[in-house]
Amino acid sequence: MFRLTGRVALITGAASGIGAATAQKYAAAGADLALAWYPADGHDIDPVRWEAEKSGSRVVVAEVDVTQTDHVDAIVNRAVSELGGMHIVVANAGIARKVEIEDLDDAAWNQLIDVDLNGAWRAFRAAIPHMKKAGYGRLLATSSVAGTISAWPQHLHYSAAKAALVGLVKSLAVELGEFGITANAVAPGVIRTPQSLDPINSLGPEGVEAVRNKIPAGRVGTPEDIAHVYQFLASAEAAYVTGQLLVVDGGRGLAGLD
Ligand code: NAD
Repeated sequence: MFRLTGRVALITGAASGIGAATAQKYAAAGADLALAWYPADGHDIDPVRWEAEKSGSRVVVAEVDVTQTDHVDAIVNRAVSELGGMHIVVANAGIARKVEIEDLDDAAWNQLIDVDLNGAWRAFRAAIPHMKKAGYGRLLATSSVAGTISAWPQHLHYSAAKAALVGLVKSLAVELGEFGITANAVAPGVIRTPQSLDPINSLGPEGVEAVRNKIPAGRVGTPEDIAHVYQFLASAEAAYVTGQLLVVDGGRGLAGLD
């Protein structure tokens, strides 16, 4: 079940955290991969590539800044010409920035929206014509519980971007359903990754630990917890799930405030 054999997937932010785990999961499920790597963050893409190739995947790697339309278009075009199509996009690249209201000027606002929201749209837009041609498409966005089921003070732009992704996939789901294309968003709760462990912009190691006893599942999430959901949503078996936000937070959002 949930095999991805014969499918080509683009994953943005593939060198770390949720993106890297999703790449491994997709490779193990039989997909070929276009891995979008943002070297400025210092993550190494090679281990992700090697693991995927060990699983038998054909892999294309490209340096991609999702704020650059030509970068995004180029990796999609390479995937189509070298791997034979474009069936699944995991628009996962994202940044979190902690900014006080008084400091949330146009530059700070626009930078985050350009990565977390516009970057997803650039990837979807480039892939849609190929998905239409194939009669199969899975447009997947990494949203968040922040902005969708809960608030994240000092992260207003992040919350706005993550909520906007939900509006995007809902409308795409309706417009593209007749082509065999689904569009969904995933809302991770607290997942142990470079982003959440960054004490300047996010919870930091202590903040991540502190939240553990508020999670009904009894632990902080792993990137693999999210990757499993992305495998399901990318599969043929998920054809009847579209326009949805899937919350994957170990029940944290249900647990009340104390
Ligand atoms: P991460 O920092 O490991 O992953 C983010 C990836 O995005 C990195 O590989 C980074 O290099 C890449 N990236 C950053 N700017 C980019 C740009 N301009 N162009 C291309 N790539 C860029 O952390 P993660 O937690 O795995 O984050 C993945 C996604 O999950 C993000 O969208 C994040 O907002 C979301 N998310 C994370 C959590 C959590 O608790 N970790 C919770 C909810 C949502």
